[in-house]
Amino acid sequence: MLEQLKQDVYDANMQLPKLGLVTFTWGNVSGIDRDAGLFVIKPSGVAYDELTPADMVVVDLQGRVVEGKLNPSSDTPTHVVLYNAFQDIGGIVHTHSPWAVAFASAGLPVPALNTTAADTFYGDVPVTAPLSQAQIQRAYEAETGEAIVETFRADKRDPLAVPAVLVAQHGPFAWGPTPAQAVYNAKVLEVVAEIDYHALMLSHKDSHVPQYLLDKHYYRKHGSTAYYGQDNPQSGSHR
Ligand SMILES: [Zn+2]
Repeated sequence: MLEQLKQDVYDANMQLPKLGLVTFTWGNVSGIDRDAGLFVIKPSGVAYDELTPADMVVVDLQGRVVEGKLNPSSDTPTHVVLYNAFQDIGGIVHTHSPWAVAFASAGLPVPALNTTAADTFYGDVPVTAPLSQAQIQRAYEAETGEAIVETFRADKRDPLAVPAVLVAQHGPFAWGPTPAQAVYNAKVLEVVAEIDYHALMLSHKDSHVPQYLLDKHYYRKHGSTAYYGQDNPQSGSHR
């Protein structure tokens, strides 16, 4: 079942080591079929060079395994919460990419300081509140998802306009219309975090892009007035 989605999710997972976003097995990508109400996710703890498309695990939106011989990623409950809360996303990626983890470790958002950020993120990429001991003991991975959702709800941030987050003292989650675009957004976040780290070392003044530059770059590539590229897709693809 969902053979094409398994292939897409496999391909997206295999991009993580190629793009330098994962060390060992520290990452996972999923993709959802909204009509079926099912998503496909990487199995837990399998080395990337041993993965096959057939290893991908099919899970429903309550987190129950529907098909697959292997256990799904241990982060599956986080993906369940995000798919249920963010109804328009089609793929999710989680990594421990080091520049993004540096900001997550410091409890800082990744600020929109340049057009590289503004092309993909309509504003700062936020950081969640730290999880409490009770949250971690109750249902760690699901509570991680709830902390992400609460971060977006609290300041009415649109998860499609800012398609990533940092979980405090943990790392980034990113998402998008497809698994491939979720991986794209995760890589952009890592690049922006590295650039931002250096910018913040060079200067302590507030160097956020002004709203008009943020608007210009974000809306060149997103929404009904997008004009960047050859066919001006509204899907958020970039070229
Ligand atoms: Zn993690």
